Amino acid sequence: MCICFGFLSLVFAVFNLSVNNLHLVGGLEVGFSLLCLYIFKHSQKHYPKRWHAIIMCLAISLIVLCGTYLAPLKNGLFLWTFILPILYYLLLGRRYGLILSSALLFLQLMVLSQKLPHSSFSAFNIGLNLLFVYISIWAISHVFEGNRADFSKRLKNLALLDPLTGAGNRLSMNQYFEVELRDKSQLYLFLLDLDYFKQINDQYGHEVGDKVLVELATLLRVTFAKGYVFRVGGEEFSLMSNFDSPQAALAIAEKLRLAIQNKHIIANGETIKLTASIGVVQYQQQSLSELIDLADKQLYKAKETGRNEVCTDILVHG
Ligand code: GH3
Ligand code: MG
Ligand code: MG
Repeated sequence: MCICFGFLSLVFAVFNLSVNNLHLVGGLEVGFSLLCLYIFKHSQKHYPKRWHAIIMCLAISLIVLCGTYLAPLKNGLFLWTFILPILYYLLLGRRYGLILSSALLFLQLMVLSQKLPHSSFSAFNIGLNLLFVYISIWAISHVFEGNRADFSKRLKNLALLDPLTGAGNRLSMNQYFEVELRDKSQLYLFLLDLDYFKQINDQYGHEVGDKVLVELATLLRVTFAKGYVFRVGGEEFSLMSNFDSPQAALAIAEKLRLAIQNKHIIANGETIKLTASIGVVQYQQQSLSELIDLADKQLYKAKETGRNEVCTDILVHG
């Protein structure tokens, strides 16, 4: 897109500078071509930045507004106004699309009202048609971008959330750890596994087992509100968050253990009681799989020493 717009803008710049004598518009177009070239070069090496898209939209809008104001209407430069809402929505999404499209409409109406002859009925007709074409393109862009954004959110949820419990899945855990979590200096990982869950399935049935998992995930999200909850296995959850100190992390792990112990789930008229074992580790420059292996060792220790326990390799002073 950068290449396409950069090239088009350069062609128009040559025309405006040499044939039309529109030096300001031509100069802006040369500047815009250079901007496109810079963004193109940058995007080859790095992830595209949002401000690039914002600057691009503002720059092209400025050119179209100046062109409409300075060039004779018969040059048709103002017709580029109609692609701008599409560009805004495509590059910046619904919110900025709405803001920029309304601002552009307002400014172009001001400019065109100066340029169209006031008295002529045909000028009024043309103006009205242009207005409705613009509003139609704007409305289509708005609805289309809305549908696209909703669809992409649904797809993202399908890819990243566990369908049963709504907790994140392994993929989202990796994504969170590798991409989103920038400051890991105080990161702690809890690995939590329900005790004797197979017995619940055997005694009450798989459906009740599912209900238990859903309620457990909700309880974890509420109790562990500061961090993220991921379902990493059948009845195994990993929880990640930053804490100010090891004591704070262990206190929350203990709070989780107690909350699960005190949770009573009613199913088929019976009360089901749960307990869980938790392994807690602190991040120290390991990879995610190494960190999980360490937490798994602590979880295993908790299972070995009788379950319904929090185990950790963190040395707590004082
Ligand atoms: P331990 O205390 O050693 O963890 O014992 P456990 O019975 O919890 O552990 P085990 O790994 O033997 O059993 C886990 C069970 O979880 C086995 C499997 O049937 C059940 N499970 C796994 N995924 C699901 C699920 O999505 N729904 C239900 N209802 N059960 C599941
Ligand atoms: Mg278990
Ligand atoms: Mg298990």
